[in-house]
Amino acid sequence: MKKIQMVDLQTQYAKIQPQVDKAVKEVFESAAFINGPEVKQFQADLEQYLGVKHVIPCANGTDALQIAMMGLGLEQGDEVITADFTFAATVEVIALLKLTPVLVDVEADSFNMDIDALKKAITPKTKAIVPVHLFGQCANMDAVLEVAKAHNLYVIEDTAQAIGADYTFKNGTVKKAGTIGDVGTTSFFPSKNLGCYGDGGAIFTNNDELAHTLRGMVNHGMYKRYYHDVIGVNSRLDSVQAAVLRIKLPHLDEYCKARQKAAAYYNDGFAVADQIITPIINAYTTHVFHQYTLRLVGVDRDALHRHLLDQGIPNAIYYPVPLHLQKAYADARYREEDFKITNELVETVISLPMHTELEPEQQDFIIKTILEFIA
Ligand SMILES: *Cc1c(COP(=O)(O)O)cnc(C)c1O
Repeated sequence: MKKIQMVDLQTQYAKIQPQVDKAVKEVFESAAFINGPEVKQFQADLEQYLGVKHVIPCANGTDALQIAMMGLGLEQGDEVITADFTFAATVEVIALLKLTPVLVDVEADSFNMDIDALKKAITPKTKAIVPVHLFGQCANMDAVLEVAKAHNLYVIEDTAQAIGADYTFKNGTVKKAGTIGDVGTTSFFPSKNLGCYGDGGAIFTNNDELAHTLRGMVNHGMYKRYYHDVIGVNSRLDSVQAAVLRIKLPHLDEYCKARQKAAAYYNDGFAVADQIITPIINAYTTHVFHQYTLRLVGVDRDALHRHLLDQGIPNAIYYPVPLHLQKAYADARYREEDFKITNELVETVISLPMHTELEPEQQDFIIKTILEFIA
């Protein structure tokens, strides 16, 4: 059996190596390392894939969130609501821009923002909601949009973990994750579902005016060379990464399917165990399984984590600490009783190897090792 990895990028690369090597070599030979034609081409490819008017490439997913908030004109003191159970980048940029982060609890089954908690957190200062489509499935966007409309709030979708997922509205309309709110953001970090070979990110919007603002902001606030109309940042997707992404994007749906197949295989294997709750997928969304995350009932999670490592099975705790308890984001405003679910999830979740190259033999070994441990 091949060594089990949390994410196997080598095997994935081996399957597209000739095309990637050729595309990268062409960038080297052209020496158009910054803003080369590959960047514009990838932008157009992704706009078409997502069915969105504008894709603004940038340097990483964290920048994408920050620039999106800058582009919307959010200002010091504005409150921005996001989920307590997510990667820190989401809350980091809110704090960095001197906006006021407001963390809310999540749903135990989907791990996504809890809509009642969202409603309770709204104040006259609230300006934006950042739903995170965690682990690969969409948050309840019908409800998020309804709340946003009622209170005149912006919606910024953090789609770093869910690119390619489909959301089905109550009226039957289907849209890609990240194209539903005022603006969406994603990351092309190597281990993300559409990963490049370094850092990368992008912002999506259907709003022409906002797209124009954002395109200048990623490039020092320049709309005309050496004329700086707004304060911007230097955040570009480089041509080498764009060339890699152009090769990988046509494979994204097949990559999602491979992850879904691996998830279904795990689900079958764990169906016999009452102590294991396999991922629950809401009817309004597909799940592209950036992570395959179990909830454990009456199992010593940390002992299982160590046991699996001892057996050569990588696994991870996403996430071990709720954001409201992180030193950087702790705040006297928060009350523990408002974070019951997140506080419980950080003790009971475990994420298993999940990628496009998992083999049934590897999964059989992982399943058997876990079932034996909890028996
Ligand atoms: C990865 C990730 C980001 C940040 O993306 P980077 O490209 O690493 O900056 C933001 N939000 C979420 C939910 C992520 O998983």
